[in-house]
Amino acid sequence: MTRHIFITGGVVSSLGKGLTSASLALLLTRRGYRIRMQKLDPYLNVDPGTMSPYQHGEVYVTADGAETDLDLGHYERFTSTVCSRDSNYTSGRIYGSVISKERAGAYLGKTVQVIPHITDEIKEAIRSIEGPDVDIALTEIGGTAGDIESLPFLEAIRQYRHEIGRSQGLFIHLTLVPYLKAAGEMKTKPSQQSVGILRTIGIIPDILVCRCERAMSQDHKDKLALFCGVERNLVIEEQDVRHSIYEVPLELAKQDVDVYILEQLQLHVNPLNMGDWQTMVDTLIRPPNGEVEIAVVGKYITLRDAYKSIYEALTHGGIANGVRVKIRMVESEDIEHKGASALLEGVDGILVPGGFGDRGIEGKIAAIGHARENQIPFFGICLGMQCAVTEFARTVCGMAGANSTEFSPQTKYPVIDLMETQKTVTQKGGTMRLGAYPCRVAPQTLARTAYGLEQITERHRHRYEFNNTFRQALADQGLVFSGLSPDGHLVEIIELRDHPWFVGCQFHPEFQSTPLKAHPLFRDFIAAAAQRRGPVSSRNNGRRVPKGTATP
Ligand code: GLN
Repeated sequence: MTRHIFITGGVVSSLGKGLTSASLALLLTRRGYRIRMQKLDPYLNVDPGTMSPYQHGEVYVTADGAETDLDLGHYERFTSTVCSRDSNYTSGRIYGSVISKERAGAYLGKTVQVIPHITDEIKEAIRSIEGPDVDIALTEIGGTAGDIESLPFLEAIRQYRHEIGRSQGLFIHLTLVPYLKAAGEMKTKPSQQSVGILRTIGIIPDILVCRCERAMSQDHKDKLALFCGVERNLVIEEQDVRHSIYEVPLELAKQDVDVYILEQLQLHVNPLNMGDWQTMVDTLIRPPNGEVEIAVVGKYITLRDAYKSIYEALTHGGIANGVRVKIRMVESEDIEHKGASALLEGVDGILVPGGFGDRGIEGKIAAIGHARENQIPFFGICLGMQCAVTEFARTVCGMAGANSTEFSPQTKYPVIDLMETQKTVTQKGGTMRLGAYPCRVAPQTLARTAYGLEQITERHRHRYEFNNTFRQALADQGLVFSGLSPDGHLVEIIELRDHPWFVGCQFHPEFQSTPLKAHPLFRDFIAAAAQRRGPVSSRNNGRRVPKGTATP
């Protein structure tokens, strides 16, 4: 029977509930248990696919093609479990389903209400991640205790736990214990109040995880335990980690939180093996091979969450090569004003991520031209690949004004165009080419060297594609089509030969990269960047040694 853990958040948002959930899940997998995870989001969009990155950060795409919350990225990166459509439900999706059922007559004769119909639908969503192959299901509730819109979710988990019993399910509440500089002390009152809110609706947390900047004293823990009705050893401290989010599970393990969870769920406490994780974190904190600097040229640069998986995958590429990856975030519009050379001076690699809409496009294209002409390793992802094709067509093939029809519907050279299947689509939500698709990788290419495989599967999220009308003309000038759909129709990977490392892919490899197993393209991109930077000298603290300089 699947046990359940419900994780709620209190006091403020952005406490890192997703990270904490993913870290706990990792510890449970390392104790030998099979887990599955999901997030319940209280907003009314059916999924985050239609939201701007400014609203929501990155949209994470699952293998089965769901557009989901970025916390699912943490779940997959930490635990290597596969998320699916069942891993993310929003209020919009829950209500949508209840309303469709009502129209279909499923509740004939009844008044359809939040309780029990919406809460029953939420319980159905929770049940969807149970199964004979799942020992523990972790459900994270989005939002903060006290939000009006999360009430049906909280009521649903209260009922759920009541039905399965205390030994089968537990509540974890993540809260903030702020340090007030002026008072010179930590404050437990916000956490007490947040637990108070949960108690008024019938939820008493079993474990309190306290986010804090400084170490908590035993006094603070005792006070929280007493006033929140939590056992003393179940007040867990989660201090800000110093270097990396991947330290969080190690810190939580030191306090045996996973042991308490298993004991409460009446599961055997198997030994914990975190050796490889610890080694990975050590490499990340003290990389033996110095540093590379990678420019990420995008339009949501001010918002770190917008390219979450990209930044993580770059870090993974660094771990695989034993180098620290320093990221220079470059606003593509700035390149349009100040020029690529000025803003990209000194970088060891340039990455152009995915995106929508024409703002900053010319800056991205200029950055790609700079990478191509100056032999700087380049990695283009989705829109980044489309821009690389455009740059190549314009500059190398003499196709002035070449463009994607997304930005220039009337262009004479529509090198990127809407897919046939997209031309009749008018609905916006969930209608892109989404999820995992197979791809065949050509021999003797950078892509094949990276993957070491002919057949790969990668996740997509786009409407536009390479336009095959131009395939021959671009190939004649040296563009290599190194990855194609199995039927040969869709261009999935492009690259250049006379360049140290220049690869663009139509899919999003960042969604399959993990800290223990960097995605092969990210690994090789960082390797190429490290190669360009030159060997590390122990005397210059890993700083770049200019090319041609002998290392002592
Ligand atoms: N806007 C482009 C398309 O829809 C690229 C999408 C992306 O980068 N994810 O095809």
